[in-house]
Amino acid sequence: MAIRVTVWNEYLHEVQFPEIAEVYPKGIHGCIADFLKEAGMDVKTATLREPEHGLTQEVLDNTDVLIWWGHMAHQEVSDEIVERVAQRILDGMGLIVLHSGHASKIFSKMCGTNTWELKWREDGEKEILWVTAPHHPIADGLDEKIMIPHEEMYGEPFGIPQPDELVFVSWFEGGEVFRSGCCYHRGKGKIFYFRPGHEVFPIYHMPEIQKVIVNAVHWAAPIKSPEKIVGNTQPVVELKTQMEHSIQGLHEQKSL
Ligand code: ZN
Repeated sequence: MAIRVTVWNEYLHEVQFPEIAEVYPKGIHGCIADFLKEAGMDVKTATLREPEHGLTQEVLDNTDVLIWWGHMAHQEVSDEIVERVAQRILDGMGLIVLHSGHASKIFSKMCGTNTWELKWREDGEKEILWVTAPHHPIADGLDEKIMIPHEEMYGEPFGIPQPDELVFVSWFEGGEVFRSGCCYHRGKGKIFYFRPGHEVFPIYHMPEIQKVIVNAVHWAAPIKSPEKIVGNTQPVVELKTQMEHSIQGLHEQKSL
């Protein structure tokens, strides 16, 4: 069965600024949805201004991987929806957070830190994304680096917890570096933060960037994991004697 992806976009820059609409005539979500469909995925989109931001319980229940792009309206995303998304992630839905989505409520909630903290500069600098985990599934089929001719700079320190796996580190023309491809596990869900994607530049039209996002969707898609059993439980291997394992048994051994 095809992986079911929902691409969520704030969708404000493209509406308000003609120069950005020129880069993304169908919105950033439309561009991402198109290349994911080409990769054989079952793709839907959702945006901020839709009722419930397009993220009803039904939509989320039918989503394997949620992609998130937001920038100027993080605070307009309702806490109730954020909580709903968070619960679905713990229950196995994958989340891919792009670029300025680092400051979104959902990413900072899942990280538990001030993920909005970083350096930035909008000078259209060159960025080199170095693959730091060449055997990771997200790096499948890539070269050792991706060159982006013009990007917004993000610099360390970045307010994230130590990633479980670090797939990319960026270098920028002005000298800064940044952890640009970060994997996390939260409950049954997998989360990938991927830095590139400033709205002014045609980043999501680049084949290498599309390849990373396609790979990330495959990686973040839920697997059929063993049933989780928690709480008080019976032994799965028969205990030798009940006595040896009881507190009373320990006391009796002591007094012998
Ligand atoms: Zn940006």
